[in-house]
Amino acid sequence: MTREICFCGWVGDLEDRNPTYTDDGDLGLGCPMCGRLDRLEAWSDAARAATLAEAARRHRIRVESTLSRLEPPERLPVR
Ligand SMILES: [Zn+2]
Repeated sequence: MTREICFCGWVGDLEDRNPTYTDDGDLGLGCPMCGRLDRLEAWSDAARAATLAEAARRHRIRVESTLSRLEPPERLPVR
C-alpha cells in the first residue's frame, strides 16, 4: 500500500486519488483536493493498470455512496 502525500496537504492511499484523463488522453490519478495529476509514469504497465483499476473501483463506491445518501427515504426498503 502506498501512502501518498500531496503538496497541498492531502494524505491518503494512492488508490484514493481520482482517475483522471490527462491532456493527451492518458489516464492518471488526480489529487481529490487540488487536482494535481500523477501520471504514474515510473510504474510498470501491470502495476499501473492494477492501481488505476483499484482507484476506479474506489471512485465508483464513493460516487454510489454519495448518490444513495441523496435518495428519498421512501426508496429505502420497507419491512
Ligand atoms: Zn493535492
